[in-house]
Amino acid sequence: MECKKCHRPLHDCSGCNGGRASGIGGKLTCSKCNSTGVVCSQHGGHWK
Ligand SMILES: [Zn+2]
Ligand SMILES: [Zn+2]
Repeated sequence: MECKKCHRPLHDCSGCNGGRASGIGGKLTCSKCNSTGVVCSQHGGHWK
């Protein structure tokens, strides 16, 4: 997966462990990556 802004490869979000730290029910709510599980080192997770 790559950033839609800069097309650099995305990194697993440290806030939610790449989206694997989803809560009970499997619904991920992470403000750091905007619940995508991945972040861009340049743009963070709010690139969508
Ligand atoms: Zn980016
Ligand atoms: Zn996250």
